[in-house]
Amino acid sequence: MWFLTAGLAVFRRLRACFGVARKLRLPGISTARKFRYNGGMPQRSLSSRGFADLLSQLQQQGYALIGPTVRDGAIAFEQLSSAADLPRGIGEEQAAGRYRLVERDDERLFGFASTSRSFKHVFHPPRQQLFALRRSKDGSQLVAPSHHRAPVALIGARGCDIAGLSTLDGVLAGEPPVDAGYAERRRDVFIVAVHCSVAGGTCFCTSMGTGPRAAGPFDLALTEIDGGSGVEYLVEAGSERGQTVLDTVESKSADQEQVELAAETERQVREAITRRVDAHAARSALRDNPEHPRWNEVAERCLACGNCTMVCPTCFCSTVEERNQFQGEEGDETMSRDRVWDSCFTSDFTHLHGGSVRASTMSRYRQWLTHKFSSWFDQFAQSGCVGCGRCITWCPVAIDVTEEIAAIAKQPEHGSEVGHD
Ligand code: SF4
Ligand code: SF4
Repeated sequence: MWFLTAGLAVFRRLRACFGVARKLRLPGISTARKFRYNGGMPQRSLSSRGFADLLSQLQQQGYALIGPTVRDGAIAFEQLSSAADLPRGIGEEQAAGRYRLVERDDERLFGFASTSRSFKHVFHPPRQQLFALRRSKDGSQLVAPSHHRAPVALIGARGCDIAGLSTLDGVLAGEPPVDAGYAERRRDVFIVAVHCSVAGGTCFCTSMGTGPRAAGPFDLALTEIDGGSGVEYLVEAGSERGQTVLDTVESKSADQEQVELAAETERQVREAITRRVDAHAARSALRDNPEHPRWNEVAERCLACGNCTMVCPTCFCSTVEERNQFQGEEGDETMSRDRVWDSCFTSDFTHLHGGSVRASTMSRYRQWLTHKFSSWFDQFAQSGCVGCGRCITWCPVAIDVTEEIAAIAKQPEHGSEVGHD
């Protein structure tokens, strides 16, 4: 069993590196960025109290809540104990290489753009045990991990977050072999989406077709508005179970004024998102210009720290580690083989016999950007980027993918002198 799992990990890495085209097929999970959608008309209106009741209802139905909360000086998706854990009245400022929390002058719970930590860790954990050995009377006993967990409700998922999950679905739970742990964790997830009411300083979801309005799939979608008499939530159901949960809390019909306010908010957010990527041009520009001098220029700044890959909701690469414990009593774990997140920026990532295939920072950055915006289309029939902007915000030297793509697309140069691996 273990060699199958390790073999699968190697296969996935090679496929990611060298781009094997394949057709998407995902049992039980939707991969496409299309779904049943009610036309975008909010149906009901909830007060702040009603929204808190909605979360309580989900908990009573057995869902663990994962949503935004302040953690280590940033807003991140973590487990919530109640609506009180949400970042009430807290916003953020984001720019290339910069993130700051700020106090808002209202009581909004979702008055910010993208979180520091996406939902990736919930379904594709940073460390996951593949199998273990326990000391037994006769030697060792093989122990397989259980992937079972309580049902999860994602609270406050933005359009880019949902698109990020759909993208990961295509990679890890698409055509067989499926990642069994991922598929199990993704099963029956309840999604409460929130349409963005604030434009993040590094977002470019409008270019990637993922926001600011969440296009699904979701069970419920909220628009947070402040109509003067306090914060309210317009709610639309995207599934029958979403409607069922909505019916358990006190709500009223959304009035015309609320609907117009929500539409105006969305219009303003769209207008405020100024970063752009031409996804179509990026695909060919990156593919056709592997020798562009810009690769060397960006490599002079890049620290190969891998931050961009860690925060990216769609980066999925991993490696395998083994921990051994030679001492111990019967029943103690003596060995654990784990899958842990890795990054195409580490020198070990492409280490084959004799050394690293991508020895230079230039070649690693080129691989990352080209895979995200170009060869991902060949592998998975869509972009690998959802425009969340996290890689721009959390890059310590403020490298901006939108600037790098624009520079390469604007001045294609073939056969120029650049460093190689
Ligand atoms: S490449 Fe950057 S902007 Fe695109 S999904 Fe990843 S972190 Fe977000
Ligand atoms: S682009 Fe930025 S975040 Fe990514 S590896 Fe280079 S320095 Fe680190």
